[in-house]
Amino acid sequence: MRYQTLAASCLRRLGRRARKIPLDAGFSCPNRDKTLSRGGCVFCNQAGSGTGLLHKGFDLRAQWDRLTAPFSGRPEAPLLWAYLQSFSNTHGPAGKLAAALSAMAALPGIDGLCLGTRPDCLDPEKLDLIAAFPRPERRLEIGLQSARDATLVRIGRGHDAACFASAARDAASRGLIVCAHVMAGLPGEGPDDFLATIDFLSDLPVQAVKLHNTLVVRHSRLEALWRAGGYRPMDRQDYVSLAAAAIARLRADMTVERVNADAAPGELLAPAWAADKSGVIRDIRKYLADTASWQGKRRDAPDAMPQW
Ligand code: SF4
Repeated sequence: MRYQTLAASCLRRLGRRARKIPLDAGFSCPNRDKTLSRGGCVFCNQAGSGTGLLHKGFDLRAQWDRLTAPFSGRPEAPLLWAYLQSFSNTHGPAGKLAAALSAMAALPGIDGLCLGTRPDCLDPEKLDLIAAFPRPERRLEIGLQSARDATLVRIGRGHDAACFASAARDAASRGLIVCAHVMAGLPGEGPDDFLATIDFLSDLPVQAVKLHNTLVVRHSRLEALWRAGGYRPMDRQDYVSLAAAAIARLRADMTVERVNADAAPGELLAPAWAADKSGVIRDIRKYLADTASWQGKRRDAPDAMPQW
């Protein structure tokens, strides 16, 4: 493999694969609930990829039991990590986060925790609560999307790149594993902007990354821009070569958890090629092989491909 996948990283560090179990703890987002705005980021729709299961009457234990049942009793069962993915799972009062963490700590067989959030929803009190979670694997997925402040304003994020850098440092100093989410093809950005974001991340104590191609999804503000001719998604081959270039500029020790994005069923409007998620992954891996490239080649591993 020409980059370090999450599976490879888990086998090397923990001796087993891990499975993220997606749970809904009922959090919202400051860019949706009027704390910052109601419109949300330009690429996000009201659903925010959430399931809403908590509000439908399924508490965390019920969700966990249902989703982990297929793994029980398996001889080589993976490590199980509770994963709060949708919206901003540290938004709101610290007491709400403390209650969710307490409920998750009581889940049977839980081996770790993974929380998705925004950098401006992390303060010392909340970071201390997460760091005190009684399992060794405590991961934070923090949305950055771009290191260009002008882009962050353009897409309506409501925070700047310095906010991300500060949150990443504060989280890492408490022993949390930080995974950054970044996007290629954002409105007004070109390849150099995306690679500058990759360089920005690689200079921070960020240990993992998810690379995404920008999608136009139904009912997002980007849909209106795209329909009006004001936004053109990246071509497939351009994204493949840019993702490969980004991987080559990442630190070799980082984990590349994702190399492309997918949309919830029925939500993708453009580009059509993004529906072929596994094909795009294959193309990126082939491109790396065909160009004799690998993770870190343009940064800290120029001479030989590391063994992940
Ligand atoms: S992308 Fe995340 S931060 Fe932005 S509006 Fe959607 S849920 Fe909120």
